[in-house]
Amino acid sequence: MATPDNTGTGSVSRIRQVEAISNGTVVDHIPASATLKVAQLLTGSDDQVFVGMNLRSARSQRKGVVKIANRELDTRTLSCLALIAPKATVSIIRDYAVFQKYIVPTPERFEGIAKCANPNCVTTHERWTTRFTVVTQDPLLVRCHYCERTFAAADLALL
Ligand SMILES: [Zn+2]
Repeated sequence: MATPDNTGTGSVSRIRQVEAISNGTVVDHIPASATLKVAQLLTGSDDQVFVGMNLRSARSQRKGVVKIANRELDTRTLSCLALIAPKATVSIIRDYAVFQKYIVPTPERFEGIAKCANPNCVTTHERWTTRFTVVTQDPLLVRCHYCERTFAAADLALL
């Protein structure tokens, strides 16, 4: 019986844990608990999306990988990623090769990206554009500009 390689050390085993795509974007090193959120974020179109969950990783215990065919991510999507999967890596794939690879940049503030989790916040009752500023990067904590409450970014729901 074939058993998975559990060593998690070889670079070969890092590759192809999820089906390869010829063109598109690979989001890697997603915290395991945020994988489905990221998949949901990226499935807003007809593009094919491949999801790998609880994969082995040298950098963290378990991680998720999401690959989307034939699409490169826009600025808003990158902001969403920065909020729900800080430190994830984004690789742009062209013709099966990595054209560009970078860690998702954390903006200084997130505008119109996530709902404030405070039920009494003015943004939950009126049509204000939500605005959060970064308090700490690791863990990523953000403060609502309107109610001034601080939240773990991972707990916020995307708009
Ligand atoms: Zn608020």
